[in-house]
Amino acid sequence: MITTSATSKSLVTLNNIKKVFFTDDVETHALNEINLSINKGEYLSITGPSGCGKSTLLSLLGLLDTSTAGTYQLAGHEASDLSRDERAKIRNKEIGFIFQAFNLISDLSVAENVELPLTYRSDITKSQRAEMVKDALEKVDMQHRANHFPSQLSGGQQQRVAVARAIAGNPSIILADEPTGNLDSKNAQVVMSLLDRLHDQGATICMVTHDPRSAARAGRTIEVFDGKIVSDQLTEKSQAVVL
Ligand code: ADP
Ligand code: MG
Repeated sequence: MITTSATSKSLVTLNNIKKVFFTDDVETHALNEINLSINKGEYLSITGPSGCGKSTLLSLLGLLDTSTAGTYQLAGHEASDLSRDERAKIRNKEIGFIFQAFNLISDLSVAENVELPLTYRSDITKSQRAEMVKDALEKVDMQHRANHFPSQLSGGQQQRVAVARAIAGNPSIILADEPTGNLDSKNAQVVMSLLDRLHDQGATICMVTHDPRSAARAGRTIEVFDGKIVSDQLTEKSQAVVL
């Protein structure tokens, strides 16, 4: 185990990030003084007990929410200074999100689900979109289900489509929140192998997981407790044998 430190190659840099939720008369300090750098090509897992702030951290990284204090640089953008529209534009280009509950749209076909985030991109033509959808579905071996609807697929297949949706636009970083949490062990294994392969092909991945065996597949693990990063370690992937 080796302790990591920030470098200038960072794709992601969070500085002194705080997140406070204000609901009715309750203040929840979900994240406190988070400092984190992620380099291009890293595979990072985030672990920690329920309610410690993992999903909040991933939402901030994915520009789905904004911090209460602190700064965030993502792929050369000063993400903490953006308007809502600018945030959405950068999110659509730079971020691929995979959720525990798949979050496919039931009224759209597999191909339409994968295409949807690309339709918000002004830099991609319709014919490029079709090619990108085809490529992404091939990468997760779901091209033969392009015209099916989510309800016609197993959970494992739905998550593979969700992975295709996340990677179709060639994002700078893939964020996955408990991606195997709703899957049986066989399908979990398929999705984890898919993430391994994407990482081997150069993808940067940040994955929240409760499962120590999944965490061990990442090259680096951070542990969150009470809204703070309490450990940040590189794992020797060769030692992380997953049976
Ligand atoms: P984890 O993903 O580690 O289980 P979360 O990031 O979901 O934890 O939550 C961290 C803390 O912030 C918890 O106390 C949770 O109740 C609170 N929280 C998360 N989202 C909201 C929200 N939208 N409004 C109010 N409190 C929230
Ligand atoms: Mg969570």
